[in-house]
Amino acid sequence: MMITLPQLIDWLKKLDGVYTEQKDFLSKLDSDIGDGDHGVNMARGFNAVLSAIESSPPADICAAFKTVSMTLIKTVGGASGPLYGTFFLRAAADFTGKQELDLDAWTSALEKGIQGIEQLGKAQKGDKTMLDAWLPALTALKENGGNGIKAALKAAADAAEEGMKATIPLQARKGRASYLGERSIGHQDPGATSAFLLLQSAAGILG
Ligand code: ADP
Ligand code: MG
Repeated sequence: MMITLPQLIDWLKKLDGVYTEQKDFLSKLDSDIGDGDHGVNMARGFNAVLSAIESSPPADICAAFKTVSMTLIKTVGGASGPLYGTFFLRAAADFTGKQELDLDAWTSALEKGIQGIEQLGKAQKGDKTMLDAWLPALTALKENGGNGIKAALKAAADAAEEGMKATIPLQARKGRASYLGERSIGHQDPGATSAFLLLQSAAGILG
């Protein structure tokens, strides 16, 4: 089974609704251990993504991801704008001219995107960042490939959710939350939460 360009575009457009709905929740999480803008940042970013895609529909998957990347870098701001922007830029790499992708291509795009986040942000697993959702999702994708693409996407979302919840007892070692030291313990990381929401929405990509 394949994921097609229209399905991907549909997913990217839906993220506007997801982050608009979760805006207050994400900003509340960020006000506990940061500056309270993460929900506003993500909602503004994906609202701009929706407009960009609607005003000039991308011709292939590479163009779709590059539009997302440039739009997020321009509009999200904060630490998370460049990080999500880099994710989509790296994920775009292999898709020039491509109208569909299979599970291997999706997994490889996710892997490259995550490597971009790691190189830019220099965080590691357990630092209480978005990587604590992304990395277990990638592992789950690799381990569940044999069960078909739908099951693999679901397993990735479930692993991201667990990783997100597992940030609660961690002390932040990167980003704004790290300034709080031990006071960052006991709160769920906002970026891990937005990454989970993205992957949860991706799990519904095939309907
Ligand atoms: P800011 O912290 O600049 O206000 P946001 O509030 O939009 O930016 O995003 C905060 C989120 O960004 C954090 O919850 C964390 O998940 C993520 N983040 C911050 N720094 C890093 C980093 N170096 N690597 C990975 N993710 C990071
Ligand atoms: Mg913030």
